[in-house]
Amino acid sequence: MAKKLFIPGPVDVSPEVAAKMSEPMISHRSKDLYDLHAHLIESLKRLMYTQNHVITFTSSSTGVWEAAVRNCVQKKVLCVDNGAFASRWFDVAVACGKEADKLEIPWGSTVKPEQLDAALSKGGYDSVTLVHNETSTAAMANLQSLAPVFKSHGVTSLVDCVSSLAGVKIEVDKLGLDVCLSGTQKALAVAPGMAFASVSPKALEISKTQKGKGYYFDFIVHMKYWEKDHQTPATPSIPHMRSLDYQLTKILDVEGAENRFKRHHEMANTARSWAKKHFELFTEEWCASDTVTCVKNTRNADLSALGKELSAKGYQFSNGYGKLKGQAFRIAHMGDRKPEELATYLAAIDDVLKL
Ligand SMILES: *Cc1c(COP(=O)(O)O)cnc(C)c1O
Repeated sequence: MAKKLFIPGPVDVSPEVAAKMSEPMISHRSKDLYDLHAHLIESLKRLMYTQNHVITFTSSSTGVWEAAVRNCVQKKVLCVDNGAFASRWFDVAVACGKEADKLEIPWGSTVKPEQLDAALSKGGYDSVTLVHNETSTAAMANLQSLAPVFKSHGVTSLVDCVSSLAGVKIEVDKLGLDVCLSGTQKALAVAPGMAFASVSPKALEISKTQKGKGYYFDFIVHMKYWEKDHQTPATPSIPHMRSLDYQLTKILDVEGAENRFKRHHEMANTARSWAKKHFELFTEEWCASDTVTCVKNTRNADLSALGKELSAKGYQFSNGYGKLKGQAFRIAHMGDRKPEELATYLAAIDDVLKL
């Protein structure tokens, strides 16, 4: 039986969006594909509030972490580390042979502008990696307050908006983000397997002289093909492109981006009120995310048993991530999820735990 996914990715994909993946195949060297690619990029630029070019990759978002590091970290990168995903991006930077330092922030919190400023003031960094919405702890950074710090230190900003983009407004150009990356299977509610990033003129300029970029994720290779009739260097996942393009039209022209952000904010308020009534928030409230809520298991409930009972009711439950397993659990409220569905899920937990 298909279960309703209350995990923070992959999330449920609507039948119409999923159906786009099974349309008859076309050539990847055809005008139809180039037109699809161009339309998709225009829509992504609208969603990201940017005039920067957006590059799509046939990989999950982890691949674009690697792309961002290989194309844009010149000598040394500062990696803000406040959770499992942020920490893994640091590992990726090191695996790519870059000199990298961690700016460690406790789990459940995120970096404040003064902390970032102090770390960058030590000098020697040309770039920063930041996970906007740390999915393991549901902590969301305040980009408005951090952007001026990136700017004042002149660092290249590499920002992961994987579990926030399309659930929260992220104005790439206003913020001046150099690389803003995301993927399909979180708040965008498309199948996993494709990712993308906006790239600023500065990011492209740096990429031109970088060594050891490899080929598949080289921004400049992608730009060359884009400039030739909107081509892609290799065969892209045409099913994902169609599905994402269709979903973006629904988001931008049917629901409306602002309405979508509002719906996410309202669901977050519902989840947080519920969490505070019966448990506690794991996340510091000032940085609690609008797409996922992390709940501290203050009742010492048996979360494995809870997961099994919810499964029997047709739901996929999300235990705490990694070291938080058993101590916390997460409630995803992102993508096309409706407030009524969230309310029904919370009532199901009430029922199981007799709250
Ligand atoms: C899910 C996620 C990723 C990794 O995405 P993959 O699709 O598994 O590569 C990266 N960053 C954040 C914040 C995520 O939530």
